[in-house]
Amino acid sequence: MLKDRFGRQIDYLRISVIDHCNLRCVYCMPLRGLSFIPSPELLTAEEIERVAAAAVSVGFRKFRLTGGEPTLRPDLVEIVGRIAALPGVDDVSMTTNAILLPRLAGPLADAGLGRINVHVDTFNPERLKKVMRFGTLDEIERGIAAAEAAGLRPVKINCVVTRDYNDMDVADVARRALERDWHARFIELMPLGGGEAARLSLSQFVPTRETRERIEAALGPLVALPRVQAADESRNYRVEGRRGVIGFISPVSEPYCGTCNRMRLTADGRFHLCLLNDDELDVKKVLRSGGAVADVAAVLARAVGLKPTGHRLEEGISTEERSMFQIGG
Ligand code: SAM
Ligand code: SF4
Repeated sequence: MLKDRFGRQIDYLRISVIDHCNLRCVYCMPLRGLSFIPSPELLTAEEIERVAAAAVSVGFRKFRLTGGEPTLRPDLVEIVGRIAALPGVDDVSMTTNAILLPRLAGPLADAGLGRINVHVDTFNPERLKKVMRFGTLDEIERGIAAAEAAGLRPVKINCVVTRDYNDMDVADVARRALERDWHARFIELMPLGGGEAARLSLSQFVPTRETRERIEAALGPLVALPRVQAADESRNYRVEGRRGVIGFISPVSEPYCGTCNRMRLTADGRFHLCLLNDDELDVKKVLRSGGAVADVAAVLARAVGLKPTGHRLEEGISTEERSMFQIGG
């Protein structure tokens, strides 16, 4: 088990497999001026497996694939299969916009994927289009249905609350989640990368308190659920007499750095030490010079040792080098 210098046990690895995406959500990716990691620079499926094996060897048990949009990676099923087959892995999940799931949900579930988080900010088709700029609500609904049919349950819905884009729809998202036994998580905007998306994240920020008030006004009082895991970033609630879970992820108004258990791996082979900070440690050099699992584990142990704590989101300060799609949310 790896503990960092603040005593936090780090045992959850989020793996970004690609920085490309088929959408352009306003708070995540600009429409122009993007450059993506060239394919030869992306970690291969075998290299990702070697990092995962190294992580397992030092006590990591939970893995999440993300991006960019992970389903754009042609060898995604192979990547899931390689990680899920490692002895000691308890949980392989994925964060996705779900658009490509009608084709992929079955093969991913067969390969060992357990659960998905799907990003849906509103069920109003016009407003969703304004947020995502490409893709449609219909496509996302078909993706979620395919995931449920393949057994990828319970589906978690990630709803990033953005003023004037979807803040008026949060109670509707919560109601639909309860009706369909989904777990909805309302996320505060984070300004990452210093560009256009970061500026919008600052100007359109909505605090959890306001989102919660809107939901309670429509659905009734929220009843706190006990925390299953101390490191869960989501504070979870239910509504009396209904199924489903409503959670809030509030990195700005209620930071959860003290219980962070995460390490991140970027698609180009760097350990990103904290979502809200630019510090990274290269692991690709070791992978590409033939490093064995133990050598990779040594880099991971150094990365954990360097993990910072605390952030300055409230002052609008976070990463400058990398945006959300380049780190993996
Ligand atoms: N493409 C996938 C998706 O959208 O679910 C996976 C990658 S995306 C970067 C992961 C999560 O980060 C999504 O739930 C997305 O809504 C969230 N996200 C992106 N930009 C954000 C921002 N500026 N603040 C808060 N959450 C953000
Ligand atoms: Fe793509 Fe996800 Fe970013 Fe939206 S939030 S642009 S779907 S990576």
